[in-house]
Amino acid sequence: MDFQLTALPAFADNYIWLLTDASGNAAVVDPGDAKPVEQALAARRLKLCAVLVTHHHADHMGGAPALAAHHGCQVYGPAREATEAVHVPLAEGAGLELPGMGARFRVLDIPGHTAGHIAFQGHGILFCGDTLFSAGCGHPFEGTPAQMYGSLARLAALPASNLVCCGHEYTVKNLRFAATVEPDNAAVRGYAAECEAKRARGEPTLPSSLELEKAVNPFLRCELPSVMQTAARHAGRPMQDAVDTFTVIRKWKDGFS
Ligand SMILES: [Zn+2]
Repeated sequence: MDFQLTALPAFADNYIWLLTDASGNAAVVDPGDAKPVEQALAARRLKLCAVLVTHHHADHMGGAPALAAHHGCQVYGPAREATEAVHVPLAEGAGLELPGMGARFRVLDIPGHTAGHIAFQGHGILFCGDTLFSAGCGHPFEGTPAQMYGSLARLAALPASNLVCCGHEYTVKNLRFAATVEPDNAAVRGYAAECEAKRARGEPTLPSSLELEKAVNPFLRCELPSVMQTAARHAGRPMQDAVDTFTVIRKWKDGFS
């Protein structure tokens, strides 16, 4: 990879993704807070060239206006959630070349968590905000479960080597739920041990990869008979299809702790 990725922790469990090139140019994704970004830019003497946001929630774009103003760069964000803070609205199919970095990303519409949520994919990297988490997925606040499932399925269809750069450190808790849905999934157990060790060392569990997510993430495995059977037991009725299964386990997770 020509670019380096760093997960900057923010608030209680957010990550702001910092993408840098060998010349010291940088872009950030979902800066809910400007401070950790400013600290990283100063410490590493980086030049901020672009600010990307995946959706309108404040913990993802709160720091974007200050960063753009301070560094004289633009904010690239979802066309269907365009606010004053977004200078360049982007939607499905758009290509984005990061100024000065030569990095090219394409934009995918992935509604569900919010109505206009977008993802950025390029260079084997997927910035997916609050749609796909490691071993979990975001809450469909503004969309239907079926819409959310469709968006997750689109992400899962991308090349499996893509690195998954999501917005929150929820992995260990998500894996407890994954192990409840799929108690016989050895990949879930192995990954859980690895992630618990990383957290104990203060390291992020991210990025993961789509390949790994397809092995451990119950929300990407709703078409499997084992997941359907667990969902059916929980719901007390047979599952009709993968969307039905997704809807049941997504709701189940809300009450899971
Ligand atoms: Zn959000």
